[in-house]
Amino acid sequence: MAIKEETKMEKIISLAKRRGFVYQGSEIYGGLAGTWDYGPYGVELRKNIKGMWWKKFVDDRDDMYGVDAAILMNQNVWKASGHVGGFSDPLVECKKCKHRFREDQLEEENRKSNKCPDCDGALGESRQFNMMFKTHIGAIEDEESISYLRPETAQGMFVNFKNIMDSFHPKLPFGLAQIGKAFRNEIAPRDFIFRSREFEQMEIEYFVDPRDQKKVTETFDTLFGEQISFLKDLGLSDSKIHKIEVPDADRAFYSKRSVDTEFDFPFGQKELLGIAYRTDHDLKSHFNLSKVDLSYYDEDTKERIIPHCIEPTFGLDRLMLAVLSDAYTEDEIDGEKRVYLKFAPKVAPVKVAVFPLLKNKPHLVEKAKEVFQMLKKEFSARGINGVMFDDNGNIGKRYRRQDEIGTPFCVTIDFDTVEKDAGVTVRGRDGGKQERVEMGKLVEYLTKGI
Ligand code: ATP
Repeated sequence: MAIKEETKMEKIISLAKRRGFVYQGSEIYGGLAGTWDYGPYGVELRKNIKGMWWKKFVDDRDDMYGVDAAILMNQNVWKASGHVGGFSDPLVECKKCKHRFREDQLEEENRKSNKCPDCDGALGESRQFNMMFKTHIGAIEDEESISYLRPETAQGMFVNFKNIMDSFHPKLPFGLAQIGKAFRNEIAPRDFIFRSREFEQMEIEYFVDPRDQKKVTETFDTLFGEQISFLKDLGLSDSKIHKIEVPDADRAFYSKRSVDTEFDFPFGQKELLGIAYRTDHDLKSHFNLSKVDLSYYDEDTKERIIPHCIEPTFGLDRLMLAVLSDAYTEDEIDGEKRVYLKFAPKVAPVKVAVFPLLKNKPHLVEKAKEVFQMLKKEFSARGINGVMFDDNGNIGKRYRRQDEIGTPFCVTIDFDTVEKDAGVTVRGRDGGKQERVEMGKLVEYLTKGI
């Protein structure tokens, strides 16, 4: 069933709230613009995405080192990285309604006519606005005590380069990986969790030998390929994924090559993730300012070099939104409209829900609880999370709820299960098809499907 793209976002936001995925931040106080809180299923969905990422890029490789750096860092980190001087967006303010906009994101006609998109008032002069959240460390607020909430996780890895070298002595090429929060005082946060002021990044700083540029190019392409392969692991539709080679004029000053991956969100094709060849910009800048040697000694050639860095970066919130919007589906079953999230089973927050057919029949409830505990134990042994017991409302309501959560399988315990040992009913989410499965084969049936 075709869904109008203009209304799709509203439907997704409403479902995300109704079913406990995403809430407005500080909602009971009227909210705080650009912040979002994640509810139980949001947490599970994010945990699954992060877990798959960590497994693919860290656990399953022997050239990656995990890091979890502090969010607050010495202000010199941000001086060296260029953020204090240059991490800014062009801001314009409407003289009439005082609304603020990012100049580079205004529609062409508003930019040309210099008119406010909200009230048609005149827009003021453009000025640069630094997006870092500033704070002070300790009791005294002076120049010395300034710190920032990190606007990216990347620098936490560059400043730990030497620590990793000293503890692990890795040979080039190797990478550092980190998952963590980042904060940007966005001028115009919008599009739900797409552009917020507090978000989570999953980043890799992959260090390579700059003397072999052919290998550097190959590594860049391989890492880009792995980014795309991760999107496929998440079950995102191929046709919505677009590779954009970023032109010279739009690239960050330190990047020799950048490729953005854009995705067809309901509000248009927008950046989902990126990869940049940051050269030796970061290590060199930190070396210069800190005076700590951040070079690498090549034992084979007896040379000291500053490694170059390729950075594949992923935004967890944008990935979550891509997964949610791609999964959002409306169809009709037995003449009734329904909404469901067609998650790839691996990312689904709940994988199997177990119900007693009737909640006022103690022997059905008891058996359903027994099957629920058995599945939990068996799944846990296989490293699978997301088994749920549900006896709220009638069976139709439970199916509707599980469809909206995106649960691939529902298992119902009925009279025949208990009285005739005749197995259970397993209902698949996508077609709504029901099958009778013998109890002894249930675990195998479900794990195959997941
Ligand atoms: P944009 O041009 O959309 O502002 P960017 O190019 O500044 O993004 P990067 O600095 O490359 O973004 O950040 C890396 C990743 O972090 C992005 O690809 C995106 O997934 C995520 N990200 C950046 N800013 C935000 C934000 N305000 N809210 C949510 N995710 C973000």
